Amino acid sequence: MELLNHIDGRWVPSTGEGMTDVNPSDVTDVLGEYGAATEDVAQSAVAAAAAAFPAWSQSSVQQRFDVLDRAGSLILERRQELGRLLAREEGKTVGEATAEATRAGQIFKFFAGEALRGGGELLPSVREGLDVEILRRPVGVIALITPWNFPIAIPAWKVAPALAFGNTVVLKPAELVPACAVELVRILEESGLPSGVLNLVLGSGAVVGDALVRSPSVSAVSFTGSDVTGRGVAAACAAAGKRVQVEMGGKNPLVVLDDADLTVAVEAAVNGAFFSTGQRCTASSRLIVTAGIHDRFVDAVQRRLATLTIGHALEAATDIGPVVDRRQLDKDLEYLVTAAQEGGEVLGGDRVDRPTDGFFMSPALVLSTTNEMRINQEEVFGPVASVIRVENYDEALTVANDTRFGLSAGICSTSLAAVTHFKRHAEAGMVMVNAPTAGVDYHVPFGGSKASSYGPREQGSYAREFFTTVKTVYVNPGQIDQQSP
Ligand code: ADP
Repeated sequence: MELLNHIDGRWVPSTGEGMTDVNPSDVTDVLGEYGAATEDVAQSAVAAAAAAFPAWSQSSVQQRFDVLDRAGSLILERRQELGRLLAREEGKTVGEATAEATRAGQIFKFFAGEALRGGGELLPSVREGLDVEILRRPVGVIALITPWNFPIAIPAWKVAPALAFGNTVVLKPAELVPACAVELVRILEESGLPSGVLNLVLGSGAVVGDALVRSPSVSAVSFTGSDVTGRGVAAACAAAGKRVQVEMGGKNPLVVLDDADLTVAVEAAVNGAFFSTGQRCTASSRLIVTAGIHDRFVDAVQRRLATLTIGHALEAATDIGPVVDRRQLDKDLEYLVTAAQEGGEVLGGDRVDRPTDGFFMSPALVLSTTNEMRINQEEVFGPVASVIRVENYDEALTVANDTRFGLSAGICSTSLAAVTHFKRHAEAGMVMVNAPTAGVDYHVPFGGSKASSYGPREQGSYAREFFTTVKTVYVNPGQIDQQSP
């Protein structure tokens, strides 16, 4: 099947380098092929979004509600089918993928409502006789650049608020997962979204991603991806005076204290570190464990890992699907080699053979690590977690915060004092108590501190800060002729 760009309501091919969309559980299973979009295609997508902006930005909130609500309903109706597509394209298990599709549907429903709630404020002026209106206006054409690890949910949580608040969009999904983005755009088209409001370009980040970031007609960029790319995008946007929001990596700590419930801690660690093959920016990659529970915790995690089935993402029995591609698999394995050279004891982390030719790897737990090691400083983005033994809570907090990242931080403890202190002092945008560091709700803000994020938060009602601009209007009502038509 040929995967196409969507520009001004038409599905159009591109003549760039040939790309193949393959199933990471079985490389002989090809989902589709496409010619990478060229810079010209990106420019025509921007032009279509710019042409559609005047009408969409003036559209009624009822129209926006109806489109987004219908899209949410269609996604929820088709969640099984979308879940299978997602599992086949990205490699998370079909259960995880169906849950992701469900979440995408819920996001559209939530932002349908936000379109109706997008009003401003009316304040009295400090000057006699004046009123002050604070209006929320759409920003303009917004470029949305998304990664491969949540191929439906991340496009959904950027597209839905962009459209709800009257912006027009060019979406550029990651090279590895174009088919999910194509389905999402089809659903929005079927939901009655006018032509040109949402355009899709399939191509490389270096060519079309960069062209979108640099286009003078793009007013804002919302990006999720790697640290290095995100920084470049933010710098280019700042230089051009564009609004920007970038979500980058994490090196998320999960602190386990002596007084933790062992079962809760093990579930939080295994889920947070290894589910979705560890390919989540909120993954618990550093397990920081106090001495009194360390050995029991490590034994219990190992026992739990031994029960997990690694295999084809579409098989019902699979707990952990493949790594997304060969490049990522090689990177994961390389990090383990380095960890061992630096003195870590690597358990698991082996290449696993299955009947189909996919990128299967067993979960890796790296023991006896210190926070200075590379494995604890850089984001791996695979089924890999390390354990850092500490003496007490104070040391655990110091180690947890000793990272450039600050996306999510978790603590497993039954002590109110420790939990309360951690909520206040963990340097992260999200704190999880007796819960995995990964796995978030769709109606509340998402984002990090330090090097993890730059710009306003995504999701929930906070998404409005990025997807609207504020206009302050001063009105002297006494001077307005009440009789005029
Ligand atoms: P990953 O290593 O996970 O692929 P990237 O940051 O490279 O992370 O990719 C995230 C998204 O950013 C993808 O859609 C990718 O195509 C895009 N991208 C990559 N390089 C650039 C760039 N120079 N400018 C804009 N977007 C880019």
